Amino acid sequence: MKKAATHAVIELYWLVGPLVSNQSNRISTEEVMQCYYHPSIEAVATCTNCGKAICQTCSVDVAGRITCQKCLSLGSQTRFQAQSTKPTNTLAIVSLVLGILGLCGGLPFAIVAWITGHMARKQLLENPNQEGLQLANVGRGLGIAITVLNCVTVACVIVIFLLYMLGYLLEPPSY
Ligand SMILES: [Zn+2]
Ligand SMILES: [Zn+2]
Repeated sequence: MKKAATHAVIELYWLVGPLVSNQSNRISTEEVMQCYYHPSIEAVATCTNCGKAICQTCSVDVAGRITCQKCLSLGSQTRFQAQSTKPTNTLAIVSLVLGILGLCGGLPFAIVAWITGHMARKQLLENPNQEGLQLANVGRGLGIAITVLNCVTVACVIVIFLLYMLGYLLEPPSY
């Protein structure tokens, strides 16, 4: 519980920090402070998270903000992971490409686009760390539309053919 509260404070600091703590980032040269973690070494900065004086070795520059190693390992790591660009789901791309190929007249492509689009959607809904849901939706939509259109066309051809055969059987052409 206490740990969670500490974490919340750190998170809050990360949100509010950029607004208030730009000046306190670097220590002025007149002040002589020792590193919190290395009492024998002179500090060069203060941590923007916990405010502790830290030496060159302890300070980590993350996107222009000085952070101590401890704070970095505490909470900010997950933050930076979340901020980094998400990888796009491969199946979603495959689905979209196949959907477009299907649009050019390839029924097998369309069917595979449908399947891969469906799989990509499932993967993306389970794993929010990936992008490409829209691609998967478009790929799957194209796949379904083209497959259904093709099936309808084939069905029509078959029905017309059967009707023709039926008519031929019922009324054989007289010679
Ligand atoms: Zn710190
Ligand atoms: Zn240090």
